[in-house]
Amino acid sequence: MNDQTLAVHAGYTKDAQGTMAVPIYQSTAYEFKSTDQAADRFALKELGNIYTRLMNPTTDVFEKRFALLEGGSAGLGTSSGMSAIFYAIANVAEAGDNIIVAKQVYGGTTTLTGHTIKRFGIETRYFDVNNPSEIEKLIDEKSKLILFESITNPTVDVPDFDTIVNIANKHQILTCVDNTVATPMLCKPLLLGCDIVVHSASKYTTGQGLAIGGIIVESKNILDKIKGNSKYYHFNEPDVTYHGLIYSDVGLPPFTLRARLSLLRDLGATPSPFNSWLYIQGLETLPLRMKQHSSSALKIAEFLESHPKINKVNYPYLKSNKNYDMAKKYLNGGASGLLSFEVDNIDIAKRIADNTKIFKLVTNIGDSKSIITHPASTTHQQLSKEELIDAGVPEGLIRLSVGIEDINDLISDLKEALEY
Ligand SMILES: *Cc1c(COP(=O)(O)O)cnc(C)c1O
Repeated sequence: MNDQTLAVHAGYTKDAQGTMAVPIYQSTAYEFKSTDQAADRFALKELGNIYTRLMNPTTDVFEKRFALLEGGSAGLGTSSGMSAIFYAIANVAEAGDNIIVAKQVYGGTTTLTGHTIKRFGIETRYFDVNNPSEIEKLIDEKSKLILFESITNPTVDVPDFDTIVNIANKHQILTCVDNTVATPMLCKPLLLGCDIVVHSASKYTTGQGLAIGGIIVESKNILDKIKGNSKYYHFNEPDVTYHGLIYSDVGLPPFTLRARLSLLRDLGATPSPFNSWLYIQGLETLPLRMKQHSSSALKIAEFLESHPKINKVNYPYLKSNKNYDMAKKYLNGGASGLLSFEVDNIDIAKRIADNTKIFKLVTNIGDSKSIITHPASTTHQQLSKEELIDAGVPEGLIRLSVGIEDINDLISDLKEALEY
């Protein structure tokens, strides 16, 4: 089946009630038929519900549907995008290990990798996503993960997947792609040879800015890299906290299985069933929305590029963009709703951000409602002028998350805001 059909139907098997909409199973726990059944469920001899911190039938539909859209084997829903990223790291790295992360990543990922996990003894080494050959010299025997974004936020770079995947495969290291901005509609990293995908479901997945959530999806081929690889010994040795279970041996997708049975069990960043239901509603229209976000963003990028007051526009599908060839190669029919542009200085940038009416001043992306952000005064406020330039976020940079309103209204709004 194709994406537009999967997005509406995948992962849902109707029960006796035959409800067309996926039910919200708002329940903490589940009754066992007997102590034998309970024992079999705990021993994974019978796969079934135990407790909602570990699994839930509504969340299960969300996970299955998302995994199919990404071309993966299984998914694990989490309570936020940040917890999905943290679990993906914690599932492979421990004190003494290092991970290799693109410099151009979401702000929360920068603080998580640069500061928080450092206190857990995990070191982060950064590479320039526009120069992935740098990765090779950062790798040593303690490197456990290469993490990058398929479309970076807010610099909207598209990485050279082939180069990164080749280096990762040569060294038998897992790759993890934050696919939040592209969504599986525009990019499927697992089919490009990557091993794990993470998302903030809070953005394009809910699509209407309704709930914070995340998901991890693993590749169908991940076992090739994990099984027998001493780097990932904890997938190949018995887990004493789970009856000596060997994750790479049970015939189930090992990465999400371990993240569920170990990390979700012990750390508990589980999505609420209601939020999972919201993501399911979002997924149904995701293919349609991504087409609209992408086509409107390209028109706006072209309009801004032709405007005399604008110095530079960053959008991967503009021919002038340094990543145009990568975008055409790795993105499928659109480059999402995120773009940024530069004006002369911070005062002009602030004036434009204050003057738009349809574009609301918000620090979020992926909403059906258009959003304007001035990173230097908000998300990147703590950085010096030099650090801003280094991060690809000069003071005069404005970020737009283009919504699904009428394109002519959106262009008029920007045109008027530029008449200062
Ligand atoms: C928002 C975002 C996150 C964090 O997700 P939350 O759901 O807010 O925790 C991670 N990565 C990217 C690219 C994002 O845009």
